[in-house]
Amino acid sequence: MIDATDLVVTPGFINCHMHISYAHAVRGIYPDDIGLKYLPTVFNLQQQMTDEEEYYTTLLGITELIKYGTTCFLDPGTTKFLDVCMEAYELAGSRIVIGSNVVDRENPLNIPVSYTEDAINEIERVIQTYNNKQNGMVTAWATPFSPAYCSENLLKAAKEIADKYDTGLTLHYNNSQEFIDKTVAQYGKLPTEVLADLNILGSNTLLAHALGLRQSELGLLSDNNTKITICPTAALKSGAGISHSSLVPEMLDLGITIGLGTDAANNSNLVETMRSMYLSAVIFKDGRNDVNMVPAETALEMATIKAATALGLQDSIGSLEVGKRADIVLFDTMRPEWGSLFNPVNNLIYSADGRSVKMVFINGRLVVDDYTPLFLDSTDLIRKVQIIGENLLSRTGLHFPSKWPITKDSD
Ligand SMILES: [Zn+2]
Repeated sequence: MIDATDLVVTPGFINCHMHISYAHAVRGIYPDDIGLKYLPTVFNLQQQMTDEEEYYTTLLGITELIKYGTTCFLDPGTTKFLDVCMEAYELAGSRIVIGSNVVDRENPLNIPVSYTEDAINEIERVIQTYNNKQNGMVTAWATPFSPAYCSENLLKAAKEIADKYDTGLTLHYNNSQEFIDKTVAQYGKLPTEVLADLNILGSNTLLAHALGLRQSELGLLSDNNTKITICPTAALKSGAGISHSSLVPEMLDLGITIGLGTDAANNSNLVETMRSMYLSAVIFKDGRNDVNMVPAETALEMATIKAATALGLQDSIGSLEVGKRADIVLFDTMRPEWGSLFNPVNNLIYSADGRSVKMVFINGRLVVDDYTPLFLDSTDLIRKVQIIGENLLSRTGLHFPSKWPITKDSD
């Protein structure tokens, strides 16, 4: 029994797209005018990580997520040492969807290229090894990186494997004009029409970012019950034009399930789901000059029940109901940003953020109490990851000088 006087109780939040691997160790290194030029260095940093380094950076990512109320998250295949990181998931008690990033085409991102057959085998190996592990807390999906860097055969096989094991498939689906033009030149069709022809769409397919879509592609997504993740925190920072050009309101009108993500600690620079929730509720109102866009209640659903549906977990999480797993967040309303309290949904979306998360339960286990993660000493961990980041930068030679002469206290 918990005395929840002055606490607002919500389902645990769900982040449908974020990367926990290398990024927390080198958070904030990229200047904000670097654009997409940071991407090739990301995969170099990731390749340079040792298993021990990845374990601790992953743990810091999970700690940030859980401390601010996210109890379930999808890492779209970034993690290199899954065996070791499984220990981090278990320690934190997190609910997580994992996979292995594979591509079989040369790409400007420096993602290691596999032979198609090896990539297919890797997808199946990861699902066989990790799906439904840790009493069902870990789910494994097919995670080929994106249609831009994967062959038709790899994409088709990935979907077949996801179907065979009754699990999911996620793709980065951030369609640049260049990719759209290339696809139209090659197939005479838009990217989503090509995915439909290849039988890649479906209720267990989750397209992340969903930028660069045309109105004519949306019917295919809703007909196939394909799921969408948007990452407004990352899209806004990269100047993607999400507020006016993304078709989120139109997709919601068609009944397409949209969950929220954040992307990584080095492009959105955060993984807190609540910030994506706030942004979802405000940016489309501004971008379309219309206050009817994405109501607060819809934004809350996109971080809870719609997100659970996007991950195929709607029967066990995403709402507070008898029979569901106890993934629960308790917010402290005796903080200034919660007063005065008349409409808890409005206060949650527009006024509060993760700082007022006082207690978190995952699967019935108390993991945050009185604002403090119970599964580790987070101060120790933050210091450790700082050293990992310094070592990683010196090993890779990456350096981005500060634009101002900022001094640091020396010890
Ligand atoms: Zn991503």
